[in-house]
Formats: sequence, structure tokens, C-alpha cells
Amino acid sequence: MRRPLFACPCCEPGAAQRCETVLPEAGRRGFLAGVLGLGAAAALPPPDAVAQAISAGSARRSAIQRVQTHEGFDGVYWRDGRYVREALGQLDWVFRDPSMEEATPMDPRLFDVLFTVWNRLGASGAFQVISGYRAPETNSAKARSSRRVSRVSLHMSGMAADVRLPGRDSFAMARLAAEMQTGGVGLYRRDGFVHLDCGPARRW
Ligand SMILES: [Zn+2]
Repeated sequence: MRRPLFACPCCEPGAAQRCETVLPEAGRRGFLAGVLGLGAAAALPPPDAVAQAISAGSARRSAIQRVQTHEGFDGVYWRDGRYVREALGQLDWVFRDPSMEEATPMDPRLFDVLFTVWNRLGASGAFQVISGYRAPETNSAKARSSRRVSRVSLHMSGMAADVRLPGRDSFAMARLAAEMQTGGVGLYRRDGFVHLDCGPARRW
């Protein structure tokens, strides 16, 4: 029986310990570098690859569906040089923590990462979002079960999403995102999803 798809372990409490085994390429040092980069992440410009990939277009589209709520968004979130405020508000709500019914202003660069990958794949269907924003309470609840807890997660900062594209191989999606250096890329092939974030480029 498949275990429920709630979160990627590498951005969960205690991840640094577990990721020593599941991060053969990035490893603990790579993960910690990503974590340590969090403090400055908010000031980072979009990853170069993302900026290059999206610079030519006049509109950027997001097509997503939330696994838990079945809510979705399909529309333009950036047009003619600026983010569309109303669209971002709708996206923030769809990306909310469903267990707490709590939303946060998502980092719009995350939508650029998703758009870049989606566009490069030539996909037409919506991303299925398994995890977006995670409220502190959600992390704290998990933290109580572990003594070695990392309280840092890009999901808590509204900068990460765990996604899959129906009909698309998760490995191929992760490889493409990693090659493009769109940000953080974590492959969870057994569970069929990929962690994507707009933090420092790293992979596991
Ligand atoms: Zn994740």
C-alpha cells in the first residue's frame, strides 16, 4: 500500500539527517548549504536559467490543481512586465496549507520556476500540487516527533512546491529542472513527484 503523499522528506523536520541517505548527489553539505541560504533567499533574483527562459514571453501562465482540495488555477499570472495581483491572490489560496486552511503570500518566483519547467516540457495539462505552503503549526506538529528537527523549510516560506504532471515521468521533469538550474530540485520517483523551489540551485 502506498504511503500518503504529504511532503518531501528533504524539506521536512529532521531532513538533514534523512537526506544523507536520499541525497546521493547533493548530500548533507548540499542540503545544509541550501538551508543556510534561506536567510538571503528572499533577496535573490530569479535563477538565471529561469530569467532567460521567461524573458522572451509577454505572458506567463500557471495551470495547477491541488490534490487535496481539487481546487485549481489556470490562467495568466504575469503579463507585460508585471505580476497580475488578482492571479497571485488566487494562486496563494490554492497553494495554502490544507490542514490548517492557512495561506501565505507565495514567492512569485516559484510560479516562474513552475512555468519554466512546464513550458520547456511542452506540457499542456495542469501540475498536480501535493504540497505548497506549510504553516508553522504543521511543521511543529511533525517536529514534536523528532529530537533532531530542522525548523527551516522553503515550504514554510512559500517558496516550494511538490508537484507531478500526469502522463509525465517525474525523473525526466526533475532532470530537466536540474539541468536548467531553476532552483532546488528533489526527485521522489517512487512517489511520483518532484520538489521544486525558487531557492538556491541544488538537487537531490
Ligand atoms: Zn518539497
